[in-house]
Amino acid sequence: MIFKKAFKYLLTPPKTEESLFNQFAGAKRWIFNRALAQRKEGWEKEKKSITLFSQNDELVLLKKQENLAWLAKIHSQVLQQALNDVDRAFLNFFNGLRNKTNVGYPRFNRYKARKKLNLLHCHLKNLRLDFFYKLALEIVKNHDIIGVEKMNVKGMLQGLRTLARAISDAGWGMFLNCLKNKAEEYGKTLYEVSSLLGSTRLCSNCGRKQTLGLGQREYICECGQSIDRDLNAAINIKNLAVGASV
Ligand SMILES: [Zn+2]
Repeated sequence: MIFKKAFKYLLTPPKTEESLFNQFAGAKRWIFNRALAQRKEGWEKEKKSITLFSQNDELVLLKKQENLAWLAKIHSQVLQQALNDVDRAFLNFFNGLRNKTNVGYPRFNRYKARKKLNLLHCHLKNLRLDFFYKLALEIVKNHDIIGVEKMNVKGMLQGLRTLARAISDAGWGMFLNCLKNKAEEYGKTLYEVSSLLGSTRLCSNCGRKQTLGLGQREYICECGQSIDRDLNAAINIKNLAVGASV
């Protein structure tokens, strides 16, 4: 079996380089906003179309101005790319008008703030994924048979609001996928027990069934068993997984 793996790396530049990256980003944002304002005003006030060519020419002059000397310290390609981005944004906008597709008017790249937020979400997702894969690896390395309850995560997310949020935050579906991948990679057996089993309701000692409320943490049975509800459910799932694998 062939497995395809992807690796993601976090760049941690030295402080001096990090500061340089921030300077580049700030200068690029400044040039982008300036170029966009110039084009907007040019059209609104004089019905004049300002081209990428003319803005590139002006950039050379800007870098020579005494009050903008800081621009000369930024790599020229960084600033030129900002102008290219503005040009591309307008091109996409006008193409959108022609093709009747919904492409918005170029914005003062607010867009950057959204992008920053998306990056933060992406970072959190990667942290969570990293934790899930490490946990899955530990489980898979130490067990030959793994039993999990097949949960209708999508359906549960549409259920009680507070419960749905907890399920979503915990990322159960994501963890189960990690576990499946690792089990397959290491040739271990992952058995998904049907949720119809009612692992929470079933006594893992005698097999009797009873209904437990969500807040009831202990399973107490007529047979004398008194056990944590999650541990009781886990034993039921383990028994079924082991039985099915023999
Ligand atoms: Zn019992």
